[in-house]
Amino acid sequence: MSQPAEIDIISVSKKYGPTTAVDAISLKIPAGAYCCLLGPSGCGKSSTLRMIAGHESISQGDIRLGGKVVTDFPPAKRGTAMMFQSYALFPHMDLIDNVAFSLKMKGVEKGERRARALDMLKLMQMEPYASRRPAQLSGGQQQRVALARALITDPEALLLDEPLSALDPFLKIRMRAELKRLQKNLGITFVHVTHSQDEAMALADLIVVMNDGRIEQAAHPREVFERPATAFVARFMGDHNVVSGRVTGHRDGLVTFEVPGGPELAAVGRPMEAGRAVDVAIRTDRVRIGAPEQEGFGFTGIVSNIEYQGASVKISAAGAGIEDFTVIADDTAFFARPIVIGEAIPLSWAARDALVLGRLDS
Ligand code: ADP
Repeated sequence: MSQPAEIDIISVSKKYGPTTAVDAISLKIPAGAYCCLLGPSGCGKSSTLRMIAGHESISQGDIRLGGKVVTDFPPAKRGTAMMFQSYALFPHMDLIDNVAFSLKMKGVEKGERRARALDMLKLMQMEPYASRRPAQLSGGQQQRVALARALITDPEALLLDEPLSALDPFLKIRMRAELKRLQKNLGITFVHVTHSQDEAMALADLIVVMNDGRIEQAAHPREVFERPATAFVARFMGDHNVVSGRVTGHRDGLVTFEVPGGPELAAVGRPMEAGRAVDVAIRTDRVRIGAPEQEGFGFTGIVSNIEYQGASVKISAAGAGIEDFTVIADDTAFFARPIVIGEAIPLSWAARDALVLGRLDS
């Protein structure tokens, strides 16, 4: 069994002609971590993954795997294995031959490679299907075969490009749990590309949020959720309102700021000069319907949309210079006093639940 490898990405860029897909990113992925590269379509996740795998050349910078510079190594020499979104299984081969394929390329003798392929299929609980062809399998089973095929090379890191996107929602959640278990059992480094916040939150020890070829934040999921580094991260993770304004001062450990056409509010943050533009994140689940209590802040919003979500109700409102503000209300509280679209409601939160956003180095 391979030792997990640390992956060190050092000021790496990827250019396709005039397009900069990845813009001088630096990132250390600890050995044995489950890392998710997360971000909207086109932000450079797959290019980054393909550069780690060696399927894409690196325009600038270096990648180290387990301490070795692999920048100019071909994929088979890196100690990585890649699982593609489409699984890329060979339709005319049975599962054993599919899984054994890379061993055949390496010249491993037939008896040994079939035995090892069967072991891998066993690991993925696919042994009973060994003589089937990929078309005779469900989506989840195909994925297990693709995993077996990637893992047979005994990689130090497994690279997964949107591995769950072809599955239906139920299977997605089941396979997600299987991936996590597999990673913990094997102990090797996983790098998993996804555009789903839920998926990244559920799987990762390290979430790397990317935007426009750059890294916005790389941290543990809890840190990303509780302390989003930038307005982009707060918006993309979806559980925060982002309110913009200009700093008016600082008191009692809070930055005070004014929303154009709206109220003066305050948020947790370091002192900043007056007049500076700030973005502030306010957790959607911490907003209350009601007037501010002592040490609290708020505004009156006109309800623009209501979505029932089961245990909670998502209310959208706007007003006082604040557009598109979301409140996640408890279902019991909501139905005790239902609200209608167009109604003006007081919204409030505690000052400690508002956080000034900005990269720590800015
Ligand atoms: P993501 O995985 O986040 O969707 P990609 O890494 O696939 O992002 O793409 C990042 C950017 O690079 C996009 O603007 C995309 O159009 C561009 N791009 C990706 N692959 C190629 C390619 N082979 N040739 C030209 N442009 C590409």
